[in-house]
Amino acid sequence: MVNWTPDATPGTPYWWEGLALSAPDDPLPAHVDLLIIGAGFTGLSGAIAAAGCGATVAIVDADDPGKGASTRNGGMFGAHPRLPWGTLKTRFGTDVADALFAEAQPAFDFVHDLIESNKIDCDFQHTGRIQLAWSASHFEGQKRLSEVVRAKSTVRTEIIERADLSRHITTEQYFGGLFFPGHGAIQPAKLHQGLLQTAAAKGVSITGHARVTQLERSGATFVAHTPKGTIRADKVLLATNGYTTAPFKWQTQRIFPLPSYIIATEHLPEDLIARLAPGQRMMVETRARHSYFRLSPDHSRILFGGRAAMVHIDLETAAARQHATMCEVWPELRDTRLSHAWVGNTGYSFTHMPHVGVDRGLHYSLGYSGSGTVMAPYLGAKAAYQAMGDARGDTAYSATTLARHWLHPGTRPHFLQAANLWYKTVVDWVDYRNGR
Ligand SMILES: Cc1cc2nc3c(=O)[nH]c(=O)nc-3n(C[C@H](O)[C@H](O)[C@H](O)COP(=O)(O)OP(=O)(O)OC[C@H]3O[C@@H](n4cnc5c(N)ncnc54)[C@H](O)[C@@H]3O)c2cc1C
Repeated sequence: MVNWTPDATPGTPYWWEGLALSAPDDPLPAHVDLLIIGAGFTGLSGAIAAAGCGATVAIVDADDPGKGASTRNGGMFGAHPRLPWGTLKTRFGTDVADALFAEAQPAFDFVHDLIESNKIDCDFQHTGRIQLAWSASHFEGQKRLSEVVRAKSTVRTEIIERADLSRHITTEQYFGGLFFPGHGAIQPAKLHQGLLQTAAAKGVSITGHARVTQLERSGATFVAHTPKGTIRADKVLLATNGYTTAPFKWQTQRIFPLPSYIIATEHLPEDLIARLAPGQRMMVETRARHSYFRLSPDHSRILFGGRAAMVHIDLETAAARQHATMCEVWPELRDTRLSHAWVGNTGYSFTHMPHVGVDRGLHYSLGYSGSGTVMAPYLGAKAAYQAMGDARGDTAYSATTLARHWLHPGTRPHFLQAANLWYKTVVDWVDYRNGR
């Protein structure tokens, strides 16, 4: 049972509070140089990049622009490859592994500059991010990862011994941590709105409730069909990530939607917040439950996200699970009420890495696998530059792959039901045992 505040709005992201999210509804142009499908971080940043090349650009979205993951996420802002260097080397070779690590800081700098140069007010804060080791072996792994990140990139890291964790967080749960001092925090819905306004100011046409239901070729031109009409484009960029569905069969076979659930607590006393999270960091765990948590930008609440389930479940159940997980970290939040709970789809690839590529002429940037506040705007721009034939599109993320998996033979991810059960029973139990 969840204890909600009287004014709780389950289903609505905390980030949407007090924001009049603009829902542009430009008429569809007849013909553009570049059509972008999806108006999240990927699509908007891609549009800004292409407009900067002098292209005519239109974006269409199935919903109100921004109702996807880009305004629903945790707002943790940082980039380093999701996988260890050794795994990347095995999958893609030494040169690609090196190049992916080397691109981490430039990706961060690119998006940071996009925010600064367009004067986007998105509550950006230099908080640093601490990854908290759930077990002794996870902490050993963090030490190795820290060495590699330092050797292969300019991203800064610090190992935090267990005895020193109390500078960052007050809890008995963790064995140490890996700190990324350069990472930060954003209010994601404000970043989305800022990118939307920047794109519109550059002449990009943006149309909501215009789901592309069919995309076909007519000679050298693409023809996209939407409920609001038809649009022709020389180039098309697919930017639908965790919301990719038909008619994009090739992509749905390679990207699957993995839900992530977040709760926000009620307004908490200042001294309690200061005691629980003295470092005011972005915080993530190493256990497979993928918990990530932070203070709200005004430091008045705790936002706590993670894997309540790998499939869509009712929000009451998900919120109760997230609340219980939060109390494992901070038992004194047992009686804390919740003001918000919401869900969004991350777009996972089977390699756990994003990819920027082209399939039968259709450009795409997909598969951020839960880590896209930096990578989506960064790779969205890369994909758009590639579509425009601009050398700035060069990226090691075109040398990753979007692999298929035998567990996912069709286009609907039925395997997630079985994976959900496996993680809930076996993987979480192993984590519990190792964490004691
Ligand atoms: C709950 C949650 C927490 C997260 N936390 C973090 C975090 O703290 N840090 C981090 O780095 N990353 C985080 N992420 C990941 C990050 O939010 C995403 O990687 C990123 O927002 C992806 O942006 P996007 O533009 O590619 O996709 P989205 O923002 O999901 O946009 C895709 C859009 O495509 C549209 N669309 C789909 N099909 C069609 C169609 N046929 N025609 C037209 N439009 C279509 C959808 O309506 C949607 O608006 C989180 C994700 C979730 C869900």
